[in-house]
Amino acid sequence: MKTDIKEVMAIAPARTEKPYKRSPAWYVTSKGEPRGFVRAHGLDELWLHTGTACNLSCPFCLEGSRPGDNRLQLMRFDDAKPYIDEALTLGVQQFSLTGGEPFINKDIVRILDYALRHRPCLVLTNATEPLIRRMHRLQSLLDYAHPLHFRVSLDHFDAAEHDKGRGEGMFALALEGMRRLHEMGFQLSVASQILPDMAAEQAAQRFASVFRAAGLPESLHRIEFPEFYPPETVVSAPQITQSCMLDFQTEASRREFMCAFSRMVVKQSNRCRVYACTLVDDDADYALAETLTESLKIAVSMKHHRCYSCFKFGASCSEMK
Ligand code: SF4
Repeated sequence: MKTDIKEVMAIAPARTEKPYKRSPAWYVTSKGEPRGFVRAHGLDELWLHTGTACNLSCPFCLEGSRPGDNRLQLMRFDDAKPYIDEALTLGVQQFSLTGGEPFINKDIVRILDYALRHRPCLVLTNATEPLIRRMHRLQSLLDYAHPLHFRVSLDHFDAAEHDKGRGEGMFALALEGMRRLHEMGFQLSVASQILPDMAAEQAAQRFASVFRAAGLPESLHRIEFPEFYPPETVVSAPQITQSCMLDFQTEASRREFMCAFSRMVVKQSNRCRVYACTLVDDDADYALAETLTESLKIAVSMKHHRCYSCFKFGASCSEMK
């Protein structure tokens, strides 16, 4: 097959990668082959990580979140505002917030209030006590022309299965939180885990009946995620080379990877840094830069085990593509 040099350049690392130094594994696989890379074409979506503190301690959490967790610190309004402002200069179309549980963060409503003046927002939440406690402060957010959308984690359609990971009563509480958000007029979707032993259509029907019984629209959009494993878990996944990205992906499909159109800001050791996407904040190689502008110049290596989920299954935390 004839190799198109322009295509290779589109997936190769930049010659100079400032300001952070990266490990050799960023560039080559364990067999010494050039890694696949993704180059950003712009900033459509900016994710803000509000911190890894959560009211729940689910053993499968991809962020390792639990009560009082400080791996990623709580992002304050003054941390978030400069990034929101910078993102607007770069043409961002949506702000998305994740945690931990974002409603643990006492600045969450202020951050949303500022972001919604400019763009639509998405918040990922477990819709339990921290959200329900702040529900009365959300009403004024409906006054903005830009919508606020909530994505609620509902691992399984069966209450006992959901509560196995999240704690007794959490299924019912999440549905109560969702019902109240829906009644207030907010948009909702659901994040659940892929159920490998059940046909997708059957799972969809079971979820629809849960939504109906809870007073929610049966047709709520649902996003299924593969197993991502907790932070820093050593997972053996196929390594993605430059050839893989050329032979099995196209220019169009490479643009669908989150690291091609989004970035995530996290707070670590009292400093904010821009990471490549929502799935790689447990690996310092993916801390690209201090600013969004600089981060967009860095081509992103496919070295993380979660990159294989993007490559193979099109996994994405975004609802924009
Ligand atoms: S996990 Fe996916 S979106 Fe993130 S850096 Fe890897 S390929 Fe890109």
